[in-house]
Amino acid sequence: MIKKVYERYPERIAAARQVVQKPLTLAEKILYAHLWQGNATEAYERGNSYVDFAPDRVAMQDATAQMALLQFMQAGKAKVAVPSTVHADHLIQAKIGADKDLQEALNKNNEVFNFLSSICNKYGIGFWKPGAGIIHQVVLENYAFPGGMMIGTDSHTVNAGGLGMVAVGVGGADAVDVMAGMAWELKMPKLIGVKLTGKLNGWTSAKDVILKVAGILTVKGGTGAIVEYFGEGAVSLSATGKGTICNMGAEIGATTSTFGYDDSMRRYLAATGRQEVVDAADKIAEHLTGDAEVYAEPEKYFDQVIEINLDELTPHLNGPFTPDLATPVAEMRDKAIANDWPLDIEWALIGSCTNSSYEDLSRAASIVEDAVAKGVKPKAILGINPGSEQVRYTAERDGLIDTFKKFENARIFTNACGPCIGQWDREGAEKQEKNSIIHSFNRNFAKRADGNPNTHAFVASPEMVAAVAISGRLDFNPITDTLTNQNGEQVKLDEPKGSELPAKGFDVEDNGYQAPAEDGSAVQVIVSPTSDRLQLLEPFSPWDGKNITGAKLLIKAEGKCTTDHISMAGPWLKYRGHLDNISNNMLIGAVNFFNKETNRVKNQLTGEYGEVPAVQRVYKAAGVPSIVVGDQNYGEGSSREHAAMEPRHLGVKAVLVKSFARIHETNLKKQGMLALTFVNAEDYDKIQEDDTFDFLNLDSFAPNTPLQILITHADGTTDTILANHTYNEQQIGWFRAGSALNLIAEEAKK
Ligand code: SF4
Repeated sequence: MIKKVYERYPERIAAARQVVQKPLTLAEKILYAHLWQGNATEAYERGNSYVDFAPDRVAMQDATAQMALLQFMQAGKAKVAVPSTVHADHLIQAKIGADKDLQEALNKNNEVFNFLSSICNKYGIGFWKPGAGIIHQVVLENYAFPGGMMIGTDSHTVNAGGLGMVAVGVGGADAVDVMAGMAWELKMPKLIGVKLTGKLNGWTSAKDVILKVAGILTVKGGTGAIVEYFGEGAVSLSATGKGTICNMGAEIGATTSTFGYDDSMRRYLAATGRQEVVDAADKIAEHLTGDAEVYAEPEKYFDQVIEINLDELTPHLNGPFTPDLATPVAEMRDKAIANDWPLDIEWALIGSCTNSSYEDLSRAASIVEDAVAKGVKPKAILGINPGSEQVRYTAERDGLIDTFKKFENARIFTNACGPCIGQWDREGAEKQEKNSIIHSFNRNFAKRADGNPNTHAFVASPEMVAAVAISGRLDFNPITDTLTNQNGEQVKLDEPKGSELPAKGFDVEDNGYQAPAEDGSAVQVIVSPTSDRLQLLEPFSPWDGKNITGAKLLIKAEGKCTTDHISMAGPWLKYRGHLDNISNNMLIGAVNFFNKETNRVKNQLTGEYGEVPAVQRVYKAAGVPSIVVGDQNYGEGSSREHAAMEPRHLGVKAVLVKSFARIHETNLKKQGMLALTFVNAEDYDKIQEDDTFDFLNLDSFAPNTPLQILITHADGTTDTILANHTYNEQQIGWFRAGSALNLIAEEAKK
């Protein structure tokens, strides 16, 4: 696959040069080399044009893969159209230590793991079993390649930019499209250039680069942009260090981040058994980095440029509660006191997809080794989540795990997400006491790690996490401060030392990978009919070609209505693979315009008030269609496809709003729903609680033709309004077939 991608590169780049008519950044090269249509025929406007792409790979984690794969089954394909993998990493809780925790996770989630294993086996998808590692570390070690394009159903898919990819986190619906052989649409991103000069030294690490960038750009500063790193400083970083930087690009809202192909990537690819990728990449190396003219005068080619001198960069701690609150370690004491942040550190955690490479573990271990040698007794509890079994096995072979175990109270957790995603059964967290923790993860929002809203989580490099853990103090600055050892002497910690790659190479006994069956046609997908977590999907019914008549208003939502209001997360995540059960959260967070309450709407058949899903189920049972009315930017937020599938499943026919968040609008279309906007936004005010809707010209549904809707109010008066839509011919085909997947399945049968 990689060879094929590289073979087409020279021609695709030549075509891109023709249309763009100026030197190209790396991001542009990768984007133009992956156009769905083949060679470029026009230059796309950054931040404006919607473009169809053909990604090379898809990656999914166990939580998001469930609904994506249940949907994929509907496409009627024998195999996925592009190489795809599923990684069982999010459902494993950290509590006691790897062995016991993994067994506990297997007991609790076995039906989900068995389902994922069987469906992967059937459809040609690689399955990384529980304990094999964290999705993004495993992808970096096995699949990422310079110049490639990948999508993944997890926001930190962007980690693969460390090996020079354009890798983007998407919703399940996008993953299903690509696996089913369809194009993936993305708004042409803007470009932010980050020039790195100098070289990291002393206590400073790659993590500090992104902690600094987050401080500059803030959590929204990268929105809609690809961040491209370049300069001598970029070349001097290890590939996994680059991965760390790209990983946390998600924390500044960036579409993705990437680095040009260089020696660090060659070394990493070779060390992880992919010399053939190096040989192939070397043949087209000039296409796998930005043009020299771009990097010489970046202001001319990027939408924004930032410069950071690594010689002057110092270690940072970011937080609490937001990853962009950047504080140089030397300034933490004053800032923490001024803000009343607890100075004592109880827990320190190293790992997550952000910082769990061999280099990370070796640098952190060197700090622990030094402290032990100097007779310093560590103060906090240290938890480690290795990023993959390959890293863990190699680290154990090389004595790094033993070094961590010298730390009193060290706990080696499963190679999984664990505390990073709230899968941490932290003793005492339920007391909700105010406290501080430090970790090498990426996100530190309230409650994310242990569910306690008063836990102040600070983000730092693994070596800083180790040093702070030893001192037990948030304001410890290892560059200037000393520690008191067991003999009462003042000692200073040495600077971290580590190996970019293991000197004896990587090793692993069982990496936890399950290859799919060559021919999966006889493989059964395992879903128990009595399961409350998983449910096979039934295809949605096709449109009967007639006008929708007699539709009742389910809810007129007022103000903000994000996908979280439409399909709440939290405890509902457990039902991600069971459409009927998760539909019991449909629109329960939306505010009803008429009574200003959530989850309380009028049932027009009985006149009584009830919960939104319950009222809608009554309409469905009675064969009465319904519509949802909404305000501005309806469906903003995460791209979760459940927010479109649930109303469709429960029988809502149309969503009529002042405006849509684009991804949600597309998701509704894909599920065979009518996504409509008021031609006159003031018509929103005409909608009353007891309204009934009749579509007048849906039976001649066509592109660029507004739909007429007759609204009959309770007093018998009527209004006729116009609703716009953005369906093209193909999308009207989805509506006719009942969903985009139904249409694909119909075509697959031909
Ligand atoms: Fe997401 Fe954390 Fe897992 Fe990374 S380690 S994939 S950030 S939950």
